[in-house]
Amino acid sequence: MLADVAVNDKLIDGTKLAAQVQAEVAIKVAALKGRGITPGLSVVLVGDDSASAVYVGAKERTCVELGMSGETIRRPSTISQDELLEIVGGLNDDDAVHGILVQMPLPKHMNADAVIRAIRPDKDVDGFHPINVGKLLIGEKDGFAPCTPAGVLYMLQASGVQTAGAHCVVVGRSNIVGKPMASLMIQPGVDSTVTVCHSRTRDLAAETRRADILIVAAGRAEMITGDMVKEGAVVIDVGMNRIPDATKKSGTRLVGDVAFESVREVASRITPVPGGVGKMTIAMLMANTVRAAAQLSE
Ligand code: NAP
Repeated sequence: MLADVAVNDKLIDGTKLAAQVQAEVAIKVAALKGRGITPGLSVVLVGDDSASAVYVGAKERTCVELGMSGETIRRPSTISQDELLEIVGGLNDDDAVHGILVQMPLPKHMNADAVIRAIRPDKDVDGFHPINVGKLLIGEKDGFAPCTPAGVLYMLQASGVQTAGAHCVVVGRSNIVGKPMASLMIQPGVDSTVTVCHSRTRDLAAETRRADILIVAAGRAEMITGDMVKEGAVVIDVGMNRIPDATKKSGTRLVGDVAFESVREVASRITPVPGGVGKMTIAMLMANTVRAAAQLSE
């Protein structure tokens, strides 16, 4: 029993921390509304990808729960890139819209980079526009960091994890998670020393074993095992993978990139999947949108 309590104490609870972020956002929304500004997020969903539809529905619902205005513009996958750019252009010009998000992935006939570049950087609450990528790297605070890595940093700081001087190893170098995560961890004030690993890293286990803070975003189910983690490390699992599980009604279950059972034996803190980083992403999107509204109304 005591051992169970100790293990539970290790958990960094994404559900609780996301609720905390959302409560902070709701206060800011109320203050803006007092000045006649209702923060508004517009999400554009092209096509009928079922996972995207679930994410978009959750974003719209959360906006409404926090007193913001949330709209989803749905279009079939047959629309042209020009039609999509026209929608984005309309949202750029609409003063009631403070945050714009085009749900990825887009249909194959579209150029996602061109669509991202068409979004006004000061409404790009996903933080993918090159201007925001640059602002994150040079430490300009009025830009927007991508929501998932921003959520990870919030989790570390809110849990009292010492980032200054810590050796942080990030597994994954995507533009959505790995690279912005590394950018955030080296910023003055966060002050970690960062190693970024990827599929061409020579000896992954040797790198991960040196981590005081290990952040894994590789998209490989349970690839990080206990023997790859230093005793006492803080482990953040960004991965979301569906694996077969005959005991579940759906026939699958969600697991991270970290083999939770073996890693929690050696880690000092660890995020679960589900109930970890995934919960933070929408909360940080709301935080970015309310800040966009405040900045645009200055
Ligand atoms: P991605 O674009 O596929 O990138 C994966 C990265 O991991 C790549 O840089 C890849 O290296 C690296 N990698 C793959 N296999 C590796 C290996 N065996 N050893 C070392 N590095 C390896 O994925 P992503 O979009 O960053 O997402 C990563 C994971 O996070 C996925 O499971 C995704 O579902 C999840 N995710 C979760 C959230 C959330 O809200 N919780 C948000 C976004 C993503 P190369 O560059 O060399 O190919």
